[in-house]
Amino acid sequence: MPIDPTLPYDDQNIFAKILRGEIPCNTVFEDDLALAFHDINPQAPTHVLVIPKGAYVSWDDFSANASDAEIAGFVRAVGHVARALGLVEPGYRLLANIGMDSHQEVPHLHVHIFGGKPLGPMLM
Ligand code: C5P
Repeated sequence: MPIDPTLPYDDQNIFAKILRGEIPCNTVFEDDLALAFHDINPQAPTHVLVIPKGAYVSWDDFSANASDAEIAGFVRAVGHVARALGLVEPGYRLLANIGMDSHQEVPHLHVHIFGGKPLGPMLM
């Protein structure tokens, strides 16, 4: 079910539980501001999610309310993970779903990193 982005942050969402160590994940990278882990249902040979450690529902919430340090740290973490996974050449795709129309399912900001094969054109 897609989330309702007007609801406040739900600290029982699955990524909040992963951040608290209540649910395991296959970690790729972690620092003070971000966690990256393999998607449990990969849609490409490489499919990693990067999430900020702060309690932000979506990119919209994050870009409006996070500190400059959180935003810089998160953006750098996404780039670092892609480089560490060897995706820069031949390339990769970033995706963030935001709210109902995008079918965002987990109400904690996450950026998908897809790679490991030619991904083709974006269809929409
Ligand atoms: O962008 P969206 O909210 O639709 O994506 C959520 C993603 O979180 C899905 O790709 C799903 O496979 C992933 N997920 C995960 N580990 C979980 C629960 C969901 O990697 N425990």
